[in-house]
Amino acid sequence: MGKAIVMERTGGPEVLCWQDFDPGKPGPGEVRVVHEAVGLNYIDVYHRTGLYPLPSLPAVPGLEGAGRVETVGEGVTGLAVGDRVAYAGVPVGAYAQARCIPAHRLIKLPEQISCRQAAAMMLQGMTARYLLNGCYRVDEKSVILVHAAAGGVGSILCQWAAHRGATVIGTAGSEEKAEMARRNGCREVILYRSEDVPAAVRRMTGGSGVDVVYDSVGKDTFMASLDCLRPMGMMVSFGQSSGAIGPFDLSVLAAKGSLFLTRPSLMHYTAKREDLEAHAADLFGVVLSGAVRISIDREYPLSEAAQAHRDLEQRRTKGSSVLLP
Ligand code: NDP
Repeated sequence: MGKAIVMERTGGPEVLCWQDFDPGKPGPGEVRVVHEAVGLNYIDVYHRTGLYPLPSLPAVPGLEGAGRVETVGEGVTGLAVGDRVAYAGVPVGAYAQARCIPAHRLIKLPEQISCRQAAAMMLQGMTARYLLNGCYRVDEKSVILVHAAAGGVGSILCQWAAHRGATVIGTAGSEEKAEMARRNGCREVILYRSEDVPAAVRRMTGGSGVDVVYDSVGKDTFMASLDCLRPMGMMVSFGQSSGAIGPFDLSVLAAKGSLFLTRPSLMHYTAKREDLEAHAADLFGVVLSGAVRISIDREYPLSEAAQAHRDLEQRRTKGSSVLLP
């Protein structure tokens, strides 16, 4: 018997309870992983509040972890007891000391990448990869706007885009975060709690606007983001840290310059095994080359997941955070 964070119901951080939990035996095609580190992601907050409903309750939340294979189920090939592995994505269940998980969702870790580093980057880093390749092909000619540029996804996205030679404009919620966004490769940073973002972007781009906006903030930024784009620019709305975006009139896209709009999810971009492997391999590549640094801002005991959620929701975190079982 081990321990896990279990939610009996949706609600505030107090619904995250540290209790006994039996991870069970792996079924066919599964392995049991003993976690060394678990990732903290904003989507965990949506699962906790019920904004994104979980398949059933009670549930162990969490979509990202790294550790060692402890038991291998029937029919699993290519993985052995003791292998260091990591994953990001459904099914939920990462906020546990150990869990069973389908073997086809696991990626073996290169020796130079620690479990803590993996738990801090798999979900946010593979997201950055599909945002830069799948939603819009960012290269040295691209001019992009990244909201929450000192956040988990934002930090990796900005560094990776800058490494490709793109011109990156970031937004941040404080001077301290703006400094971090600059270290992440942003050429310009807008303090979006006080500045007019479209006006600043127009000034910074000589009036033309950016090719693409990566907007993870949602309600507070969505409409202004559209005003930052050049004609036929791409709006990538991939999150809603400030709240859900209400109903939207499509004709606005025509009025603002024949804009494109996408609302993507990592789950679709990595659903096929070959895509999952390609995303992980590219991420390991940029991290191992030093092009992208994974900054672990905070480490919490897994038992204190509720405090980690409070800090994330109150905008106190920067970069990535991990939970330690
Ligand atoms: P972050 O580390 O980016 O944390 C959220 C940040 O958003 C805060 O630190 C804050 O930065 C900013 N923010 C702005 N307004 C608010 C607000 N009202 N409340 C809270 N935060 C606010 O989190 P993640 O990197 O884990 O995730 C970022 C977003 O991307 C989330 O919405 C997440 O769900 C989404 N996501 C989507 C994926 C997909 O495939 N679609 C995959 C991964 C993540 P500041 O103080 O600088 O404003």
